[in-house]
Formats: sequence, C-alpha cells, structure tokens
Amino acid sequence: MTALLAAIADDYTGASDLANTWRKSGLRTVQTIGVPTDEEAFGEIDAIVVSLKIRSAPVAEAVSSALAAETLLRAIGVRHVMYKVCSTFDSTDDGNIGQITDALVERSGQGWVLVTPAFPETGRTVYKGNLFVNDVPLNESPLRHHPLNPMLDANLARVLKRQSGRPAHVLDVQTVKAGLDACREKIAYFPDTQPSIIADAIDDGDLEVLGRLALETAVSTGASGLGYGLAKATLETHHSESFVASGLQSVGGHSAAIAGSCSARTLEQIAVAEKHMPVLRLDPERLIAGPRMVDEALAFARRHLETGPVLIAASASPEAVALLQLEHGKLETGHAIECALAAIALGLVDAGVRRLVVAGGETSGAVVDTLGIRSFEIGEELAPGVPMLRTLGQPGGDLAMALKSGNFGGEDFFPEALSRLT
Ligand code: ADP
Repeated sequence: MTALLAAIADDYTGASDLANTWRKSGLRTVQTIGVPTDEEAFGEIDAIVVSLKIRSAPVAEAVSSALAAETLLRAIGVRHVMYKVCSTFDSTDDGNIGQITDALVERSGQGWVLVTPAFPETGRTVYKGNLFVNDVPLNESPLRHHPLNPMLDANLARVLKRQSGRPAHVLDVQTVKAGLDACREKIAYFPDTQPSIIADAIDDGDLEVLGRLALETAVSTGASGLGYGLAKATLETHHSESFVASGLQSVGGHSAAIAGSCSARTLEQIAVAEKHMPVLRLDPERLIAGPRMVDEALAFARRHLETGPVLIAASASPEAVALLQLEHGKLETGHAIECALAAIALGLVDAGVRRLVVAGGETSGAVVDTLGIRSFEIGEELAPGVPMLRTLGQPGGDLAMALKSGNFGGEDFFPEALSRLT
C-alpha cells in the first residue's frame, strides 16, 4: 500500500468530510478507522485518511495516537501528511490542535507550518486570522454553545497560542491572492523561523495557492478546504489523471438515523425529519441512568423499521445540555450519551438495519467503534462535506453509512440522506 497524499483526522465525521473532498477532486481515497495494519489491502489508492478520535481526548493520548498514525503513513512512503481538524477549529484551551501540530512538526523537522480551517464551500472563511462561520465571527456563531468545546474566540492566532509552544503569524488574504512567491516572501520576513502560519482564505482560488505552499512542507493543519488545495497541487505535481468515481454497491436492509449532535443545524434537521418519519426523542436523564431507555428505543425502532426509516435523537437545546452537564459533568454527560447511542446503533444493526446515518462527530466515533468498522469506501456526496460511505469487509455484512458533522447538511438532510443510501 502507498499513497500520494494522506491525512490524520481528529474525528470520524471530519475524516469522511475530507475523504469526500479528495474523492471529488479526483483522488482514489480510502478512510480507515484507526491506524491501518500493513496487511490491509485497499487496492489502487491515491489518498488515505486515517480517522482517529482525538479531538477531545487527553493531550498525551491524542499526541501519541497522531504520532503512531504518522509513523505508519511515512512508512508507506507518504511525503505530506495533513492533520485534519474541524473547520470550526473545535478545541479547548487545553488542546489538542496546537499540541498535535507541534508534535507532528517537530517529528518532521520542518520550520514553519501552515494552519487554516477555511472551507468556503461550507461557509468557513478566514480573514486577517479570524474565523467566520457563514459570515459571523466564530464566537458569535452557534459554535459558542458546543457541548464539549464551546468556541469563544474567533482570533485563531490567539486560540492556537493557548495550545501551542510556537509563535503564530497571519498570512493575510492579500498576500495569498498575490500568489505563491508573495507567500514565500512574506513567510521569510516573519520574525520567527518556526512559527505556525494562520493562513487567510475566502475562496477556492486562495486554497489552491495554500495547497501548493503546504505541499512544500511535510505537515500542515487544516480542514477540508486545505485538503482541496492539497489535492489540486498533488494532481498537478504528479501529473496524475483525476479518476472518475463509480457509485457504491447497494447493501439493502432497513435504514435508520441516530443523532447525538446538539448543534443548531442538527436540531433544525430533527424538527424537519419529524414531518417525514417516526422520530424518537430520547430522555437524556434516563439515557444516562441505565439501559432501559436504550431498550425502549430499540423497541420503538422494531415497531417501525419494516415500513421505513426511523430517527432516534438524544440532541437537546443549549439550555437543556447545560443543565444536564451541571448535574453530571461535561465529559461524563457526553461520554454516557455517546455510549448509549452506540448501544442503540448496535441494536439497530442486529434488527436488520444496513443503512445508517449518524449526526455528530463524537457520536459517530462511538457508533463506528462499537460496530467494529475498520475502513470505508467513499461514495457520492450527500451534502457538502458528507459523503456516502460503504464499509469494507464488515463481518456480518457491509453497511452503507453517512457520518455527519453536527453543523453540516441542509434542513432536509435526514430524509434525503436516508432515501439516497441504497
Ligand atoms: P457535533 O458534531 O455537533 O460536534 P458531537 O457528537 O461531536 O456533535 O458532540 C455532541 C456531544 O453532545 C456528544 O458528546 C453527545 O454525547 C452530547 N449530547 C448529546 N445529547 C446531549 C444532551 N441531551 N445533553 C447533553 N449532551 C448531549
């Protein structure tokens, strides 16, 4: 196995988002869950996205998992490794974006490192080092209410400096638009030799410049926007033909969705789904208290699955989340709910579900781990950043899935995605 381009993603939905971008750009891409073993055969591939679950993990554990993934990727001959983070820069003052970037850069021996979460296609732009979500500064966007990593500062240099030992400088959009040489010149004039360089980008042209720039180094940190730029630059450098993807093979079986994201977008999508399919809103207190709520959810699903898809959701408003966290603790609440949703996913598969949509990054991680999935083939795009996935060699039969980051997808995401997975 070898690949032209590779990424280490800090969560599973982020990984499939990037795999989607790479596939659309013309790279044959596979998404693995965890570090693949040498024996795993993926056929001809151009790119590999290793999905880890390290966004909210303790720093030491997160850094060592990222380094283990990097070791494997270098061993198979990958020159550039992108560290894929969320386009809303999801992290806390404790980490982990800064620390993981530092560790990867130190290992590679390079000087500066490019960092940009810009992904204009989904409304994430960076201007003068500040991150905007649909034209609103990050700290004024719904991300300020995230249950695990509320984002309270749009200034990425400040955010990163709280997590990293490296100085941070901004590569402004005027320089990026002036092209590669202008960027190189500006970087040479920064007062430090080993800075993190927060790069502005407001459109795909900017990302193409940044992709070429990043490819001159061994490691970069970014979201799918930077992934797009890297894919373009890689295809140019290797004079490779873009491949034209074919559809995924269908899996049949029942279909269902699980939501653990509490993002404003997912809450809207659940409300719309209620007009199209049976929806069970779980009682989070009872979900934490023990297995009875899980059993009730599965009984609900079994009553409806023969006639069409169901949606089971733990998602709640920021006020309800805050109350629950006050009572049980932030991480404990998140973890308990993720485990319960994963148990529901397992029960659904036992009940004949073969097509499964999951909303929420951490939630998807828990579900995919519990189902014991090792890798995914990437299919067509269901919504920007959300591809169809098909498991590869899943014991008990392959599954068609979609792993949706909480903020992604239009209002009709659930009924639409469920009808398109075959
Ligand atoms: P997103 O993609 O929106 O970030 P995640 O799944 O990563 O979604 O994060 C949502 C977190 O909120 C998870 O840890 C999940 O278990 C937790 N959660 C889900 N429902 C509730 C609830 N009702 N109260 C508190 N936390 C919840």
